[in-house]
Amino acid sequence: MSDAERSYEKSAELFGSSFLAREVPTRDFPSAGMTATDALRLVAEDLALEGLPARNLATFVTTWMEPEAQKLIAFNLHRNFIDHAEYPRTAELEQRCIRMLADLFHAPVETTGARTQGSSEAIMLGALSLKWNWRQRRRDAGLPTDNPNLVFGGDVHVVWEKFCRYFDVEPRIVPLQRGKYTIGPEDVEPHIDENTIGVAAVLGTTFTGHKDDIGGINDLLVRIKKERKLDVPLHVDGASGAFVWPFLYPHSEWDFRLEQVRSINTSGHKFGLVYPGIGWLIFRTKEDLNPDLVFKENYLGKTDSTFTLNFSTGSAMVVAQYYNFVRYGRPGYTYIMENMQRNAEVLADKLEKMGDFRVIGREFEQLPLVAFRLTEGHSYDEFDVAWQLSAERGWMVPAYTMPPDAQDVKIMRALVKQTLSREQVDTLARDIEDACRTLEKKGGAHESERKKMVVGSGH
Ligand SMILES: *Cc1c(COP(=O)(O)O)cnc(C)c1O
Repeated sequence: MSDAERSYEKSAELFGSSFLAREVPTRDFPSAGMTATDALRLVAEDLALEGLPARNLATFVTTWMEPEAQKLIAFNLHRNFIDHAEYPRTAELEQRCIRMLADLFHAPVETTGARTQGSSEAIMLGALSLKWNWRQRRRDAGLPTDNPNLVFGGDVHVVWEKFCRYFDVEPRIVPLQRGKYTIGPEDVEPHIDENTIGVAAVLGTTFTGHKDDIGGINDLLVRIKKERKLDVPLHVDGASGAFVWPFLYPHSEWDFRLEQVRSINTSGHKFGLVYPGIGWLIFRTKEDLNPDLVFKENYLGKTDSTFTLNFSTGSAMVVAQYYNFVRYGRPGYTYIMENMQRNAEVLADKLEKMGDFRVIGREFEQLPLVAFRLTEGHSYDEFDVAWQLSAERGWMVPAYTMPPDAQDVKIMRALVKQTLSREQVDTLARDIEDACRTLEKKGGAHESERKKMVVGSGH
């Protein structure tokens, strides 16, 4: 090292970090380390360029928790959730959450469920149980088991197709139509046969926030059971909706009050108001979980049973979920959901008044979000608006096209979460209007500008 280099290093040590004016390690496994302070600054400076979660109206996932909850999370980062024998209290908190959710979803008897990494893992496990139960029924009746199928609409999350591909089940997907973005019994009926392991219906789609006609599909399945002796279970994907409907629409029946609903998944990290990653799978009764999927192991002299795809994971989010349940209870969740809904309505009103947009499906039960499209006759499209809004004011509001057969429909969607206050809603509406006026003047965003922006729809 030259004298000049040595002197630079000394200054860096005193006044800054050794990476302020140097490239950071990105490819090779570092051949030397650095001080903890340098590492902290290096990573923090990198992340300073990240999008602001408070302006991310694309995500359904929680971006804010109370300071007390954050404290609990920080205190529990060092515990592995799967070590039930060593951490029996954490395991007990999981069981309490499962019992509380079963109660919230009107399970008829004491039942069972699982804590998962999110709805995706919960759906994989729930759908596996559907497949295992179907195979059991077929085997018991001496019938072939080589051709299972699962029926769902084009409005589901990608995880349902993923399940079908990973676990060898034929997906029978009901296409959407222009102006009809959920499915009902008439769509499902033609696809059901003796090889149907189940029907999946969505409570709160990622596309427009509406629910499939779960009541109608249930009635259809009840009729099929009576007339054709086919007992086809219904799984409700309540990733978002299962934490919204019980509080905003308590009298709307979509859960275990309906006879054919056998399992429900939900994301604790969406409207369960916990940071990512936690999800839940709840069965109607213990019998709906196929016992062959549960692994029993003898560990430290105790028998432990697990029903998961993952194994080791943090326990902090289970603790945080239980915190929210006891902290908020029904009145707290109701208060929070109603505020979000109220602010979503204000935003929808303002967008309609602007004259540039049409709001989609406000008259129906819906997640606290606003899904909207441009009215006819604009020189720019929804993707332009999303880009301009992000460029001008940093709001992340995604634009996307609907799934087949409604793929020519473009939509924008703004989640109205706990932290989007009334004041922010007013500002957002003004910013959307400003973005439209800018686009009018310049006649749309340039292709090259738009490509820079990555927007997703399904989270
Ligand atoms: C978010 C979502 C999923 C996936 O849930 P994760 O918790 O992100 O794994 C599945 N289905 C629906 C309807 C969703 O909204």
